[in-house]
Amino acid sequence: MPFSQSDLMASQHPADRDIMQPGLAAYPPQAQWDDWTEFESRGWPNRVERRYALVPTSCFNCESACGLLAYVDRETETIRKFEGNPLHPGSRGRNCAKGPATLNQIQDPDRILYPLRRNGARGSGQWERVSWDAALDDMAARIRTALVEGRKQEIMYHVGRPGEDGYTNRVLQAWGVDGHNSHTNICSAGARAGYAFWMGIDRPSPDYAHARVILLVSAHLESGHYFNPHAQRILEGKRRGAKLIVMDPRLSNTATHADYWLPTHPGTEPAVFLAIAHVLISENRFNRDFVRRWVNWQDFLNARYPDDDVTFDRFVQRLTETYAPYSPEFAEAEAGIPAETIREIARVIAGAGTALAAHNWRAAAAGNLHGWTVARCLFFLNVLTGSVSTKGGTTPNKYNKFVPKPHTSPPAPDHWNELSWPREFPLAHYEMSFLLPHFLREGRGKLAMYFTRVYNPVWTNPDGFSWIEALQNEQQVECHAALTPVWSETAWYADYVLPVGLGSERHDLHSYETHSSQWVGFRQPVLRAYRQRIGKEVHDTRDVNPGEVWEENELWIELSWRIDPDGSLGIRKHFESPYRPGEKITIDEYYQWIFEQSVPGLPEAAQQQGLSPLEYMRRVGAFEVARDIYETHETEVRDARGAKADGEIATDADGKAVGVRIDGVVRQGFPTPSRKLEFYSKTLEDWGWSDLAIPAYARSHVATAELDGTRNEFCLIPTFRLPVLIHTRSANAKWLNEIAHANPLWMSLRDAQRVGVATGDLVRVNTSIGYYVLRVWVTEGIRPGVVACSHHMGRWRTTENEGMSRWASAKVTLERNGSRWLMRKDHEVEPFASSDADSQRVWWHGTGVHQNLTFPVQPDPISGAHAWHQKVSLEQGRPDDREGDISVDTDKSHAVYKEWMARTHPAPGPGGLRRPEWLDRPLRPTAEAFRIGS
Ligand code: SF4
Repeated sequence: MPFSQSDLMASQHPADRDIMQPGLAAYPPQAQWDDWTEFESRGWPNRVERRYALVPTSCFNCESACGLLAYVDRETETIRKFEGNPLHPGSRGRNCAKGPATLNQIQDPDRILYPLRRNGARGSGQWERVSWDAALDDMAARIRTALVEGRKQEIMYHVGRPGEDGYTNRVLQAWGVDGHNSHTNICSAGARAGYAFWMGIDRPSPDYAHARVILLVSAHLESGHYFNPHAQRILEGKRRGAKLIVMDPRLSNTATHADYWLPTHPGTEPAVFLAIAHVLISENRFNRDFVRRWVNWQDFLNARYPDDDVTFDRFVQRLTETYAPYSPEFAEAEAGIPAETIREIARVIAGAGTALAAHNWRAAAAGNLHGWTVARCLFFLNVLTGSVSTKGGTTPNKYNKFVPKPHTSPPAPDHWNELSWPREFPLAHYEMSFLLPHFLREGRGKLAMYFTRVYNPVWTNPDGFSWIEALQNEQQVECHAALTPVWSETAWYADYVLPVGLGSERHDLHSYETHSSQWVGFRQPVLRAYRQRIGKEVHDTRDVNPGEVWEENELWIELSWRIDPDGSLGIRKHFESPYRPGEKITIDEYYQWIFEQSVPGLPEAAQQQGLSPLEYMRRVGAFEVARDIYETHETEVRDARGAKADGEIATDADGKAVGVRIDGVVRQGFPTPSRKLEFYSKTLEDWGWSDLAIPAYARSHVATAELDGTRNEFCLIPTFRLPVLIHTRSANAKWLNEIAHANPLWMSLRDAQRVGVATGDLVRVNTSIGYYVLRVWVTEGIRPGVVACSHHMGRWRTTENEGMSRWASAKVTLERNGSRWLMRKDHEVEPFASSDADSQRVWWHGTGVHQNLTFPVQPDPISGAHAWHQKVSLEQGRPDDREGDISVDTDKSHAVYKEWMARTHPAPGPGGLRRPEWLDRPLRPTAEAFRIGS
């Protein structure tokens, strides 16, 4: 029995109903999703009826994975449009512009429809069509040979947008390889590290809707983390009276909605947070009881003041002394925010009580040397206010996420891949992915089989020319398969280009910390689900996708089966059906098992609707497992061992820590060594970072003191994006490119006058490895002394009709002379002939500039995050400069790489470890692999 509109309203959180009702009135009730009639827009002025089946799936255009509802034309069996899925607990029927633009992507005339194999030099643009069978057989043979010959570290899967929770990691685990590589270190590694050192969990989940104060670093309302689900809840919180504080050197859309906009000089954010902490502590406005119970203050006193009495009062005394130097006046001198404003904000935050929702993800944490301290110092305010895991506060994300288990869990890899986890970065949060070309150049290893998957390092990463050099080197990278739904600058240098599905053409499971709940979302191939709904058989997802576009779920099953056809490597058993022993699992069986066995409450909910759990997910698209999840750390642990005194760790029968005793009761706590929130990090102390073992401020590489104004030196912020663009895939969405197709350099009037430029003029931006040329936009929406240029622009291709979407890319000429690279645009976007009549109507020309090519790698020595902000010098465009010109010397970029590597404190650490055992890793290897020499 399908849902009715009243069921839908009943399924919402009571507090949401008033907010949901106006929006949802426009949605078809779920009872009519099999047969929904609308008037044909193209039929106007006649009232031509068109009948649709509505099929849920999830957007794949950013990490939020909002629910989408595909409108399948019942007559033509094609998708006509995408709207929001009102039954999705995270997005609640709302989407940003990129969700509906999925339609552009699936209909894009420039998309790749068939597997391709290169038949010329890498990057020459010579391709031939190849069958999936031939491609899979070749890749399987290479992988099998590497496994059999003990070269497991030569197999690497490098992912950009995962869009799923664990499916591919399980595949790699089944192969027994430590081969997961990600984009995280050019994205969120800094923020993750800052949170992980506090609580052992590397993401925050702010409860914006119930907050009294919302404190944001970055542009959450226009492009932030979990963009749409968070943005709608920030506005909900504001509507309920929350104060909004935004820290951003740029006047983002979010800042325009703020009660307080703090345009700090980049990298000084921690100084402001510590000054706020100073006020909270010195005015005794912090939550003493929470700090007493949940902070590891005893460890701090024991380590730093061994002669002190270990009492909480003594700790408060030492805390006050420690943060006395971080006065608002100190922060004003560093950050340029008036001391009185900082005091006022500190009092506003104190007034939030335990309802302070704060968030930092990329932004400053991804911009600076020591960027991770932004999150570390920001969360200090949550700790001081006791707003950790409270209603309206900030919860460790793990508690707002639910990842169901599949039918088998392969064992952990038994080795350590030093190409991804080099010894120089023992505390890195995720793989040192963006240094790969330099590691290969230094001869640290090679790759027998390299997958890039929805990942475009040539364009997305810093130092893209070094990536091209690495990808063109067949000794360093023997075989490169690009799994991608669209052409990209990286796919151009692959051996195989394998077309994988977009958001409506693939299966994925995901769960994200959008609010104080746990939910599971189900991305599915829409036309497959539709055909199954009307009783038609589908063999695999290629039957319904355009051309031979495949979904990765099925692809990985098939590839794994071919690597181990007889089961002798122990791989095949993980891809056998749980219902038909010894036979290959189907994708329906994979999800059937999970939904039947692994998602609490789903079978019962499905039964109430007269559906199987799989049918329920195919028809509804998401399931909420739990809601209103707060204070998980307070959960009482019964039957634990040890913990005879307060502060002692309790264990289970296997000796695994399960809790800590607080005021006589064993409570679950946090997954840190102390099971408490670690104000004092013994880990940082033991691994050589004593100065940063407690929340502290360390100057960034772009601090004002580093900039010489007389040479027109500025801090460049390249970390923001325009709300309608995404990384690699928005180039294929014509609507999005029509809206946004320029990334000028933001400059204040004062600075523009100093450099002698005005809006529209060309300016040359010099970095430490080269330069780029673009136009100026003079605005008061940027802090003087700082310039900014959005990323996700500057797409390019080297041939007229292939290699990148023509909606968004410029045709360029690339020249290489040894380590010197030059790029110049031959022409911008032009109208083009295609199956889409709109391609002849293209009126815009701009493509922006690919600034990331001119950035060297700048790895933070602790978190491993790339410090995106650049120290640049500006000059007026020279007479022969053209917009989009780029010049880079990759020898210089390798020299800068070495300078940053010299800042590291390599492993081994205590006990001969490569990495502290308690710090997590995606695809964690065995405990033995953590030891050097094992
Ligand atoms: S925020 Fe926009 S791009 Fe991201 S998942 Fe939602 S609809 Fe898609």
